[in-house]
Amino acid sequence: MEKLLYFDYAALIVDIVLLFCIILRRMVHGKMNRIFLFVVCTSTFTCAMDIIAVQYDNSGMYYLTEKMIFHSAYLTMRAFTSFFLLNYIIALTDTWFRFEKSMIKRTAIYLPVLILLAMIIANFFAGNMFYIDSNGTYTRGSSFIALYIVSAYYALYGFSKIFRERRMLDTGKTISLYAGFMIIVVAAIVQLIFPRVLVDMFSSSISTLFIFMMVQRPEENIDGETGLLRLGTYDNDINRSFHNKKPETIIMIKITNADTINNMLGYRDNVKFKRALSDQIIKKLKSEKISADVYCIGPGDFRIKLERRFRKHAPPLAEYFNNKWKQPFEYKGISVNVLACICIVNIPDEIDNKSSLILLGDMIGSIHSGNVITASELKNRIDNNVVRDMDMIIETAIAEDRFEVYYQPIYSLKEKRFNSAEALLRLKDKKYGFVSPELFIPAAEKTGSIHKIGNIVMETVCRFIGSDEFSGLGIDYLEVNLSPVQCLENDLAPNIIDTMERNKVLPEQINLEITETAADELQSTIIENISTLHNAGVAFSLDDFGTGYSNMTRIASLPFRMIKLDRSFVALKDNPNYSIVLENLVKMIKSLNMKIVVEGVENEDAVYKFTELGCEFIQGYYYSRPLPKNEFISFIRSHAK
Ligand code: C2E
Ligand code: MG
Ligand code: MG
Repeated sequence: MEKLLYFDYAALIVDIVLLFCIILRRMVHGKMNRIFLFVVCTSTFTCAMDIIAVQYDNSGMYYLTEKMIFHSAYLTMRAFTSFFLLNYIIALTDTWFRFEKSMIKRTAIYLPVLILLAMIIANFFAGNMFYIDSNGTYTRGSSFIALYIVSAYYALYGFSKIFRERRMLDTGKTISLYAGFMIIVVAAIVQLIFPRVLVDMFSSSISTLFIFMMVQRPEENIDGETGLLRLGTYDNDINRSFHNKKPETIIMIKITNADTINNMLGYRDNVKFKRALSDQIIKKLKSEKISADVYCIGPGDFRIKLERRFRKHAPPLAEYFNNKWKQPFEYKGISVNVLACICIVNIPDEIDNKSSLILLGDMIGSIHSGNVITASELKNRIDNNVVRDMDMIIETAIAEDRFEVYYQPIYSLKEKRFNSAEALLRLKDKKYGFVSPELFIPAAEKTGSIHKIGNIVMETVCRFIGSDEFSGLGIDYLEVNLSPVQCLENDLAPNIIDTMERNKVLPEQINLEITETAADELQSTIIENISTLHNAGVAFSLDDFGTGYSNMTRIASLPFRMIKLDRSFVALKDNPNYSIVLENLVKMIKSLNMKIVVEGVENEDAVYKFTELGCEFIQGYYYSRPLPKNEFISFIRSHAK
């Protein structure tokens, strides 16, 4: 009886196409992807072995050894297909760690496939699963049913697993998995009834294809640009980890100057750059033989999720990336400096819920320590409670007068002296210690307390300028930040003018900083505020230039005396194209009669570079950090010529 191979050929084609898709889409990283790859590979091999074995059967010749080998290989691979499929479901529900804990569960998974393997080996001597009779005909033995029993066992196990963990999977995925299993079961029944028609392999390929499209869902899970997992998958995965209370370690990486790099390289090169970064991560994990899920959850936002057994590898890994990215990244002859903030989080020990983890991820960018930090360190700085209690912290600070204004000296390259300073607000809470303005300013903007805070800053700065201590310092003016929300306040301009007059401050002694966001607003209140203050003689600076999408026409139409280049410009290393852009940017700003302040300068090289470019002012840790008023006075006095 000749067997019909058409279905097997079709199955082989489906499997090979699937393999191509997986490889082209770079769906080979992460545990789930790898197990799925195993499923497809075993399915392909099973199919190939089946075709070869049946070809020998159909040849009508004896070929005892060949038939024994290929039928045994088919049986072995067949046994593994259902085993890997069950493994895939376990990975999908992220419950492997339960098996690691329980010997009984492990036995329940491994024992059936091992028994089957033993039976396949024994079959060479006993011939009880199948044998080749004296005519060379392949005949199934009484124990062949074991293959079906084991496959049915794994299928049932998979079924019940999906059912038990259905809350971890969305309905679409659950239904698709059930449907995938149903296709296999129906085909197995058809195969039993019509042994000549080999639909078995075809059904398995179709159900794998189905799972690929409906469960793996490359569009949804894989970032096409890097081949890494996407935000949605990260979200689901950490949800499951917290639900299962699974101990894991997450390395959170945030490239804080990702936007600037994007602007500099342009879309296409930025994609390649991102890919080069992710390739470095993958390569390192591979070389260290560490199995991990790597996600790209936003521009310059990466997450590496390690299982508990790799926990001790997390610090050296994080250090490796931190050191590697401190050196300029050579890309297509361009040298790009990456500002990476890296934090290691152990869950659930350090963080036991998803929203705190996400919050922590959002905050890593605000810490520029240059070192890898742990979640506990980061938490100490930005305790979740700080965020929760922020409104109360701000109210208490206002009531108890806990705000303090620090001053960061600004160096004039032309005059070779510190001619001005930026006023930066500090909040020291009784319970939480120093709270970053990056946290409390946005919170105050939301609640509206920014108006009170703004008044406090303006009052303090004006009182300082009006004081005797100030007059001898040789500081021409102080820069004060205005948040976009403040600029929307109706009586902002009269309030500021009033504060200045009360403290006998001259308009040229104050310089107000606004960001591009505020400058981009076309609201009449903002325009009115700016022009009233401008007419009164107060100057304006455009803060954080380069972090948003600059509307140069709009900027040119506003009365800015100065442009403050964001610190991300400083981090970018020289390369011919970038230098041309920067040179022209400087030229353009100058031709608009505006002066340039470079922010975030931390070393001498940068001072030299921006001096050469013709920038007028430098602000940054290279000269001094923001200082409390008295220290600022001592600093300026000690640096006075
Ligand atoms: P900003 O106005 O761009 O202030 C510059 C920030 O860069 C300050 O952070 C300063 O400490 C930091 N910085 C200065 N030099 C360096 C350097 O060399 N390296 C690095 N890595 N950083 C440097 P800070 O004080 O944490 O303030 C953050 C932001 O909070 C400010 O950004 C500003 O937008 C806002 N802010 C601070 N004080 C006030 C305020 O009184 N009113 C308003 N509305 N916003 C404020
Ligand atoms: Mg500023
Ligand atoms: Mg700034």
